[in-house]
Amino acid sequence: MTIEPSPAESAPVGTAPEAGPPTSDRVRGQCARHPERPAKVQCSRCGDNLCDGCAAERVEGVCKSCLELLSNRGKVWQVQWLAVVTMVHGGLLLLWAIGLVVSGLYLGVAMGGVETTQPDAPPPEFMAGVFGGATLFMAFGQLVPGVLQLAAGWYMLSFRYRPLAIVAFLAGLLSITGCYCLPTSILLAIWGLIVIFDRDVGARFAASA
Ligand SMILES: [Zn+2]
Ligand SMILES: [Zn+2]
Repeated sequence: MTIEPSPAESAPVGTAPEAGPPTSDRVRGQCARHPERPAKVQCSRCGDNLCDGCAAERVEGVCKSCLELLSNRGKVWQVQWLAVVTMVHGGLLLLWAIGLVVSGLYLGVAMGGVETTQPDAPPPEFMAGVFGGATLFMAFGQLVPGVLQLAAGWYMLSFRYRPLAIVAFLAGLLSITGCYCLPTSILLAIWGLIVIFDRDVGARFAASA
């Protein structure tokens, strides 16, 4: 659909502004912060006119003033810390997963080679398979939340993919299969969900969506 300029809009009489060529956003007037500069676009949140310089400071169409306003509200300041802690926690879960796989393979191979003296004992290959399977299951319980938390933390730094953060905090509870990381996963989930469901944090994420 094309928008035809109305006669009144396209030809102001007498006081034709000396502004440059019309932009695609069809914004008229001066920048809200720099009255000497022509406006090129508008903030998608507050509707302020923005010059080229101010437009360059936008994040996803939201002006710098709005971003600062949003960043100073509620628990928004905690999000960057939460993002870093979430990435560190995800990294530790991944290391734990790798450690489980390596030790599981090592012990599984070692068990597979054990000669049994009892006639009714299960064959060592069976035991090795059970042990290896259990270890891989445990490792999987660290790997999934580890990857999710690394990604969620990374995107949280720039206030993106809020649902991914929610999933990553809850997925951390999968680490119960590996025992070691569960207490930290619970703490991270509680803190993370409190922050991520904060009303102002939601607004800040929405501004970057
Ligand atoms: Zn704004
Ligand atoms: Zn400006």
